[in-house]
Amino acid sequence: MGNASSIEPTKTIFLDIDGKKEKIMFSRHCGTRDIHDLIAHAAGVSRYAEISLKDSTGAFVSLNPTMPINTQSSPYKVTSKEPSPTTESSNGDGEVFTQVLSQVASQFNNQFSKEGVFKVEEIKTDIATRLSALERKMELEGLKAVEIEKCKRDISDIKDQIWNAQKKFVDFNRLSNETQADSSLSDERKISLKRDVPSYPKYTLSQETIEYLKQPTFDIWHWEPNEMLSLLEHMFHELGLVAEFNINPITLKRFFLCVQENYRNNPFHNFRHCFCVTQMMYGMIHLCHLWEVMTREDLGILMTACVCHDLDHPGYNNTYQINARTELAIRYNDISPLENHHCAVAFKILSNPECNIFANVDKDTFKRIRAGITMLILATDMARHGEIMDNFKMKLEPEFDYKNKDSLDTLKMVLIKCCDISNEVRPMEVSEPWVDCLLEEYFNQSDREKMEGLPVAPFMDRDKVTKPTAQIGFIKFVLIPMFETVAKLFPVIDSTMVEPLRIARDRYEDMKEKNSMPPPPSQSNKKKTVTEK
Ligand code: 5GP
Ligand code: MN
Repeated sequence: MGNASSIEPTKTIFLDIDGKKEKIMFSRHCGTRDIHDLIAHAAGVSRYAEISLKDSTGAFVSLNPTMPINTQSSPYKVTSKEPSPTTESSNGDGEVFTQVLSQVASQFNNQFSKEGVFKVEEIKTDIATRLSALERKMELEGLKAVEIEKCKRDISDIKDQIWNAQKKFVDFNRLSNETQADSSLSDERKISLKRDVPSYPKYTLSQETIEYLKQPTFDIWHWEPNEMLSLLEHMFHELGLVAEFNINPITLKRFFLCVQENYRNNPFHNFRHCFCVTQMMYGMIHLCHLWEVMTREDLGILMTACVCHDLDHPGYNNTYQINARTELAIRYNDISPLENHHCAVAFKILSNPECNIFANVDKDTFKRIRAGITMLILATDMARHGEIMDNFKMKLEPEFDYKNKDSLDTLKMVLIKCCDISNEVRPMEVSEPWVDCLLEEYFNQSDREKMEGLPVAPFMDRDKVTKPTAQIGFIKFVLIPMFETVAKLFPVIDSTMVEPLRIARDRYEDMKEKNSMPPPPSQSNKKKTVTEK
């Protein structure tokens, strides 16, 4: 049972402010800064004022939660001084700090407004030098307790300012460059369509294209965005999904348009990647005759999850989101922030009746579809790769049970995972440009991490990674084992998907070897060798 005495203990300190008696009360959990602010408030001065307390013997009393208590009859005498305006020649510590603070502020403001470019590194170095000089000064000069407290407060203020300014810089960059913008669900503009159906022409697909579309060898670079929209539409019609969910064909067009608008122009995580993943799923459905082992509803869930799986990807991965403590990481408590976001954007799009391809299904079906799509998009977080693969391998023994919901769910998760990272399954001419795109996005992230003082993964570091080193490990330890496991269930995968992976692995190994060989002798040297012989 709670009572008044069990409420957080408080401390009362009596003050004498120019003859006026005041008292302040604070809990032991308060910081020095809070106590300082309370006294500043009681004294009617700004929170930036320098405050000192003296007891009845004239000794300075340090400001902190464990400061000695006093009585009403022996209050601490308060003196306060507002910081003086910045001058070039100021010598006092308070002035030095004020000067640092205002310089920080002005440098930030100038670089924002004038250049739009912000030399974070330069400013950080400058401030770090000043801070360490001040800290050294504190140590060397053995400043009085109250001054040390003030120094600490100012240092902490400067650090706050750097943090805020750095955040301001990042926000500025986000605003000025949409492709680099951090994700925000509050951006309602993109959820509603900028252009409507008549703006994209209908393409007549040749029979050859229609057949080619079912192959993992399909050249995904060949198509303009509008053509990709038509191809996606075709896949949904051809698989019988339009009939299954009773989708209004115009709603289907609007859905794809809205999806396309909600992919950003990242080097890798863009609308073409969405198209690739969906086309590979379409290919796997055909190669493995998936309609024989699952329902049309399952196929619809698989295809729609692929279409939506990287919606509004900001081009910086989960590690960045978590380390930079972005809005997304905070919203999703560091748990698959990106995948949760892709999924939330997907359902935001579907919440618009004009784009809702599942508008005509009953409530229970919608519930199942929503749960299925969410499960699949969340499964694309590579942090869960081991867990999902282990689970799938267990379901294969002694025999895979297609009637078991858990088993089928795991299979669907593995299928979307396969498609998501399937670029290397494609012919070399198609797959290789994707590696450049991926590395461009990686380098962009690692450059930013270096600039912001965040940890940098070696596989993203432009000084450490090359095309073959990026791909060899990924193909050998992630792709081949995963596709080989799926091939146990669908043997056709071995020749159509695992074999191309083996070829890609060997090619990158050759490339690596060539890169590490000394350069061939020059033409003149070669001639010389021949004559010597
Ligand atoms: P995502 O869902 O982000 O598209 O795919 C998962 C992650 O797998 C990618 O962000 C990327 O880190 C990794 N990945 C996909 N394809 C490749 C690839 O071809 N090579 C390498 N090294 N990593 C890849
Ligand atoms: Mn993806």
